[in-house]
Amino acid sequence: IYARLHNPTVAGFERALADLEGADAAVAFATGMAAITAVVLAASRPEEGVHRPHVVGVRPIYGGTDHLLSSGLLGTEVTWTEPGAVGAAIRPDTGLVLLETPANPTLAMVDIAALVREVRRAEREVGHAVPVAVDSTFATPVLQRPLEHGADMAVHSATKFLGGHGDAMGGIVAASEAWAARLRQVRMITGGILHPLAGYLLHRGLQTLPARVRAQQESAHALAQWLAEDPRVLEVFYPGLREDPLEQRLLVTQQRGPGSVLAFRVRGGPAAALGITERVRLITPAVSRGSVDTLIQAPAHLTHRVVDAEAREASGVPGDLLRLSVGLEAVEDLREDLDRAMSEVEAAHGVEALVALTV
Ligand SMILES: *Cc1c(COP(=O)(O)O)cnc(C)c1O
Repeated sequence: IYARLHNPTVAGFERALADLEGADAAVAFATGMAAITAVVLAASRPEEGVHRPHVVGVRPIYGGTDHLLSSGLLGTEVTWTEPGAVGAAIRPDTGLVLLETPANPTLAMVDIAALVREVRRAEREVGHAVPVAVDSTFATPVLQRPLEHGADMAVHSATKFLGGHGDAMGGIVAASEAWAARLRQVRMITGGILHPLAGYLLHRGLQTLPARVRAQQESAHALAQWLAEDPRVLEVFYPGLREDPLEQRLLVTQQRGPGSVLAFRVRGGPAAALGITERVRLITPAVSRGSVDTLIQAPAHLTHRVVDAEAREASGVPGDLLRLSVGLEAVEDLREDLDRAMSEVEAAHGVEALVALTV
């Protein structure tokens, strides 16, 4: 009838992603943020008089999602909580629990099954269903399938790993047919549908997804180990290096691998972190992730700049933190590039300290 309602190329991508997530259906949107917006809008229950539902959000979460909910742009109120306090935050007008695992940018992992159990307990008290949506962008269905752990919706920014080449934008939600129908209705009304050309590229991206995820993960693991032993580095955040017993368990039961995104804090504060992003040559200083190209950015100064500064620090996003999304370049070349950038920053810092002393 009309391309805003349905497109066969987009439907092909949706079918494939639904199969990968073990879901009845999937609904694709123009971007990840359009997908998340639709999830929030689909959570209203007009038949019960809940037009603008209360949302329980778990921090840290993607900066754009944090901003969408905190700003109240969609008329919704948000309560930010820790994973363990989700049940207590649920109210009679709560329509959605939204979380991200592994989370952005600290790679903190949330136990989806435990959180869902808590929500189901709270549901009995409030007397209605409260859907749990998991932003699974970092993990991809290769490493994690949230619906298997009880989540109602698995959300992806397809712009990242699913497309995989940094040249197409999209968002997609895998869910039951009942939720998919509501999401399609929101999409039809608001017009956030994926463009067919992007749908073609994203569908093609799925063909190499497992191979890319595995190769990128292997390089990320090697880089994380190297960084963890480097005296210029304060702390490395990578699920594969965590000693926390819960996270180690989740790496077996929930996630089939630590993935290819890592974060690390460098000596020398925010200036050193920013200096490194300016000095890398092979690595691209840019937001986004999941591309064949390795990308670096300082979240506090870029993607999480929109998050309230105090909340940002509290959720583990300090100014000296760098996030690295590892691509398909040779790992030795990546290590060399980082090593040189860090040395240059250290040398520049040394000169500054000397100048300060003599003045
Ligand atoms: C990029 C991203 C989004 C937003 O997706 P867009 O396609 O940029 O709109 C949401 N969640 C996570 C985890 C992301 O990485």
